[in-house]
Amino acid sequence: MQKRDVIIIGAGAAGLMCAISAGGRSKSVTVLDHANKVGKKILMSGGGRCNFTNYYTEPTNFLSANEHFCKSALSRYTQWDFIGLVEKYEIPYHEKKLGQLFCDNKAKDIVNMLLDECTNVGAEVRTHCSVEKVEKTENGFLLTSSQGKWQCASLVIATGALSIPTMGATGFGYDIARQFGLKVLPTTAGLVPFTLTPKLLEEFQGLSGTSADAIVSCNGVEFSENILFTHRGLSGPSILQISSYWKPGDVVEINLFPGDDLYEKLKTRQKERPKSHINTVLAEVLTKKLADRLTELWFTEYKDTSLAELSNDALQNVATQCQAWQLKPTGTEGYRTAEVTLGGVDTDEVSSKSFEAKKVQGLHFIGEVLDVTGHLGGFNFQWAWASGHACGQEL
Ligand SMILES: Cc1cc2nc3c(=O)[nH]c(=O)nc-3n(C[C@H](O)[C@H](O)[C@H](O)COP(=O)(O)OP(=O)(O)OC[C@H]3O[C@@H](n4cnc5c(N)ncnc54)[C@H](O)[C@@H]3O)c2cc1C
Repeated sequence: MQKRDVIIIGAGAAGLMCAISAGGRSKSVTVLDHANKVGKKILMSGGGRCNFTNYYTEPTNFLSANEHFCKSALSRYTQWDFIGLVEKYEIPYHEKKLGQLFCDNKAKDIVNMLLDECTNVGAEVRTHCSVEKVEKTENGFLLTSSQGKWQCASLVIATGALSIPTMGATGFGYDIARQFGLKVLPTTAGLVPFTLTPKLLEEFQGLSGTSADAIVSCNGVEFSENILFTHRGLSGPSILQISSYWKPGDVVEINLFPGDDLYEKLKTRQKERPKSHINTVLAEVLTKKLADRLTELWFTEYKDTSLAELSNDALQNVATQCQAWQLKPTGTEGYRTAEVTLGGVDTDEVSSKSFEAKKVQGLHFIGEVLDVTGHLGGFNFQWAWASGHACGQEL
């Protein structure tokens, strides 16, 4: 039997940060992970460069049934705290866009930094360790694992969520929550590409890899970034962002001319270049390929007509279709490609200060296993760092 003050299950972003925070307060800490290496999602994130935080992190960048829950932890460990740590390790980084900070070199720099910090505070990290059973005892918890039995006063569940099962994602954290009678809110894939009907896929065939700036909106929320046509449907930052707000059956509205009043533009071109055609005007903003295909698909009756011959109603039709394109996705690509999981352990069950379950003394939940999900752009890691740090300070 091995005894520790704190056992953390899950050596991902939140678990490692919690180990550093608790270890720094002289607690004996062991982190157990069933994977063959630590921080796999950190390693694969941001295209291998890890978008580790965002300059503009605010509570409004997070979705949760309780929008206030994330505020306390985010204010106690901010983006500036994590940037300070990155700078202490002289890890080169840059802002890519919209406050999103990426490593110049590789995501491994972040994992190495976290592991070095664990070593500095004496926190032990073990891989290849599956936890088979968790039992409550009088003084804490008894764990049965593939590496023997463990006893601890505080148990922290940092096992993340369901996205990318091939990376070791499991519903373990939800099972533990349920075992102890805590509520788990329904989960769905977030930050995930949309799938389309076979008819739409056929219509967009050949556009795979084409992108366009767009404002995408649904359920009263909008995002203004790229959309990307893929061979399975639609992706790109705007689509990933809105997917977290979309529910099956919802229609998504897409404005392909975000900076323009397209009707006014068409009227102006009608005067300036009366002999030109719709696709030429669309190609001033969209790629030629996309402009030609949309004209072919949406404006068949006008495609061979010069602008001079088009009525105001026709021009208005074109503008409305391009600036308020109504699209009904068939679904999403699901957890297989989703960056995050919406829903999870109900935050009402957990203290926003210590992350301890209100009903079970010594049991804590941090990171993505909780019902807190960030927007795209480094916010999900900031939540992992902040919740891990806050919990570690209270253990
Ligand atoms: C492809 C991809 C790219 C991403 N890019 C970014 C990005 O650039 N910026 C950003 O902010 N967010 C990004 N995210 C989201 C981010 O990775 C997660 O929100 C974050 O990793 C969650 O941290 P966590 O510690 O809660 O969980 P995780 O990092 O998922 O860690 C959970 C750990 O628990 C372990 N585990 C799971 N089940 C068990 C079990 N039963 N027993 C033992 N161990 C277990 C896992 O092996 C894993 O090591 C990305 C996600 C994906 C999938």
